[in-house]
Amino acid sequence: MKAIVLRAPGQLGLDSLDRPDPGPNRVLVRVTHSGICGTDLGIFSGRIPVKYPRVMGHEMAGEVVEGGDSIKAGTRVIIDPAYNCGTCFFCKEGLFNLCPNGGLIGRDTDGGFAEYLAVPRKLVFPLPESLPNKNVPLIQVLTTCYHGQQRITIRPGDTVVVLGLGVGGMLHAQLAKAAGAKVIGVARSEWKRGLAKKLGADIVLPSDATTVGAVKEATDGRGADIVIECTGKLPVLSEGIAMARPGAQILLFGITSAKEGALPFYDLYFKELTVQNGRAAVGKDFEPSIALAASGKVQLDPLITHRLPITEAVESMKMLENDVDGRMKIILENTF
Ligand SMILES: [Zn+2]
Ligand SMILES: [Zn+2]
Repeated sequence: MKAIVLRAPGQLGLDSLDRPDPGPNRVLVRVTHSGICGTDLGIFSGRIPVKYPRVMGHEMAGEVVEGGDSIKAGTRVIIDPAYNCGTCFFCKEGLFNLCPNGGLIGRDTDGGFAEYLAVPRKLVFPLPESLPNKNVPLIQVLTTCYHGQQRITIRPGDTVVVLGLGVGGMLHAQLAKAAGAKVIGVARSEWKRGLAKKLGADIVLPSDATTVGAVKEATDGRGADIVIECTGKLPVLSEGIAMARPGAQILLFGITSAKEGALPFYDLYFKELTVQNGRAAVGKDFEPSIALAASGKVQLDPLITHRLPITEAVESMKMLENDVDGRMKIILENTF
């Protein structure tokens, strides 16, 4: 089969590999589309180390070719890329995403930049007719957002501030809206603010010295009930703590890699804030996420700004290097 193979950092190209044999409890999927994100750029550039050669791609839609009794050939599916052992302490606790023997397809094992992929049956979820494969890779991102929001409580009428309106932020804003919240989206980019408004954000604010005051003004001076941080930047998190009302919840969704730095820790105590983290989705996040996308409560299509053939994988990686207006999600189509 044909595949786009990463031979070494930056060396990504078309190659020929053996078609995988599914074996027991696995299904063979013909991959049709893959989304790409910062993780792929990290792998491509070498910042995220992998074993070479590696087939990237962890946001995947496809069609079952060899199923078995429980899933028929021809079924259109999304693949959960986060595999787990199913037998360790964490798996037994249902914390599949924290399994120390687990990993990510497309990083730790070969992924979707190929004609076929063999995956455990439990990682494959059927899709309804109304969701075209070309938009489905984005549901993988949605599952991680959904998982994060399962770790906080959003009540109808709550004010939820989403800090950072990239793909994750846009999905969080829509999920919070679907939960009945009043959503305030914050981003530096006017283009992103416009898109968030179109997707249902009630208020959009620029990220500057006026943001905290504007959030307080929109909440009778109290501050936000919930803050979802999607940038991974400490100064933004500081602002998030400042705009949170006493007793608020903060969801850290943007991956903060800083090992040290300043935060208003006293405010965490004084306001008795609850800080939650969401890492990766688990299997049970897939069906509700698929349903939210199928119902239109979460719109995927407006977030996909670029569609390229997989043969242009290198160009697509370069496009991820800079955050520019007009680019949100890039979807690659398997056009081998
Ligand atoms: Zn991703
Ligand atoms: Zn495990």
